[in-house]
Amino acid sequence: MTQNQYDVIVVGAGNAALCAALSAREHGAKVLVLERAPEAERGGNSRFTAGAMRFVHRGVDDLRRIMPDLTDDEVARSDFESYDADRYFDDMFRLTQYRTDADLTEILVRSSYDTMQWLHGRGMRFAPMWGRQAFKIDGRFKFWGGISVEAWGGGPGLVEALYASAARAGIEIRYEARAVALRFDGTAVHGVEVRRRDDMESLEAKAVVLACGGFEANPEWRTRYLGPGWELAKVRGTRFNTGDGIRMALDIGAAPYGNWSGCHAVGWDRNAPEFGDLAVGDNFQKHSYPFGIMVNAHGQRFVDEGADLRNYTYAKYGRAVLEQPNQFAWQVFDNKVLHLLRDEYRIRQVTKARADTLPELAAKLEGVDPQGFLDTVRRFNDAIATDVPFNPAVKDGRGTKGLDVPKSNWANPLDEPPFEAYAITCGITFTFGGLRIDHQARVVDGDLRPIEGLCAAGELVGGLFYFNYPGGTGLMSGSVFGRLAGRTAATA
Ligand SMILES: Cc1cc2nc3c(=O)[nH]c(=O)nc-3n(C[C@H](O)[C@H](O)[C@H](O)COP(=O)(O)OP(=O)(O)OC[C@H]3O[C@@H](n4cnc5c(N)ncnc54)[C@H](O)[C@@H]3O)c2cc1C
Repeated sequence: MTQNQYDVIVVGAGNAALCAALSAREHGAKVLVLERAPEAERGGNSRFTAGAMRFVHRGVDDLRRIMPDLTDDEVARSDFESYDADRYFDDMFRLTQYRTDADLTEILVRSSYDTMQWLHGRGMRFAPMWGRQAFKIDGRFKFWGGISVEAWGGGPGLVEALYASAARAGIEIRYEARAVALRFDGTAVHGVEVRRRDDMESLEAKAVVLACGGFEANPEWRTRYLGPGWELAKVRGTRFNTGDGIRMALDIGAAPYGNWSGCHAVGWDRNAPEFGDLAVGDNFQKHSYPFGIMVNAHGQRFVDEGADLRNYTYAKYGRAVLEQPNQFAWQVFDNKVLHLLRDEYRIRQVTKARADTLPELAAKLEGVDPQGFLDTVRRFNDAIATDVPFNPAVKDGRGTKGLDVPKSNWANPLDEPPFEAYAITCGITFTFGGLRIDHQARVVDGDLRPIEGLCAAGELVGGLFYFNYPGGTGLMSGSVFGRLAGRTAATA
């Protein structure tokens, strides 16, 4: 056993952790960051992301403050919608069926733009999401769905910039350093016990920030808390988020909080590997389903693919796919919409079928009842209100009538060859249940009293998300609460 002294120890080194470390350092603390992964795999789930960030802004002038490189020409060609606090609140409340913790949401929403400026001031760069969050309508890029900005270089770019900023601030980071327990004297936390390869170390600090992810990469916990079948989900990101931070805190009496049986999960290539692949990033996802249909092994549709803009449905549809026989589905499109398919449909590692007729396609959909599929398409095609114009950038109301499973927007008959289909299963992103924090990001105990010396941020905080999630909020909440946790820990 060796002893070291720090003001603040941050556990984890993804977005939330690095924001906490930077913020603690700015408030005068000597900071140590512990990362379980080897250096080559650093950056957690944050590195696997597209870097999409959801924050309040009043339109192009606010965006220019965090993207000073934006040219007049780019501005002229773009319709950046504004996203005010009321819309953010509405999205959080509506999607979580009014269960989100109102105090945490208030902090998230009200601090979001200021935190974007804070990140920008520390060297993080941002760019408009032309490719994924805008459609060209009448020669202009129309942004939709409440997000228009991503980190420069996506998740990898964001993480690199955060690490560079941490290096400039003189923050020490140790890799392959897995925190296994908190040093706790019954009333306060004084550091962590760490396993580093074959060595155990006991590290002392005035405060600890837990920012080491949820339990999405732990199949046993997934089955225990999310339910039977969840061990079969593929993990979209890092293999290192196995719930250590949550367990360490619960072990000393922290309060569990939030939607423990809920998670963010999406449609993900059926043959994707067990964990995320940094070379592929988020491209195993298949997010263009609003423009086609999804069928299960019986050839039947099972969700309203056009219920809402993609940002507001994708995070819950992974669960719907997991619940289908053999946990798979095929997404089917015809020639009319192939140009709308996102870039992730064109990667090499894709499970795809293509045909010039529907019967020929039906025979290629592995695991699907062909007649069931053909019946579904016929009924679907007949049910569409084709007099309503199709518009991918808004909820166009071009829906179906009379189907047991409706499609509310963007319904097009599948009738123009070639037809393409993509096989997906469920890919889990992160878990919703976790620790309870107060308005200063302090972890509270079962009596709802702050545990002295313990803060938390990022995925392992419970109470923000229930059932569903508005895209781009994971990174934003990690930055907001990471920054807050770092400040609280430094001034503890
Ligand atoms: C494929 C994919 C795409 C996504 N796209 C987006 C997007 O575009 N926008 C968005 O907002 N969100 C997105 N998300 C969600 C987003 O990744 C998370 O909400 C966010 O990154 C979580 O940040 P974090 O810092 O809490 O966790 P992480 O970034 O996962 O960091 C946790 C870190 O803790 C480390 N760790 C774990 N256990 C220990 C331990 N015992 N000791 C020390 N270290 C430990 C891990 O190795 C990891 O580095 C995406 C997620 C995935 C997987």
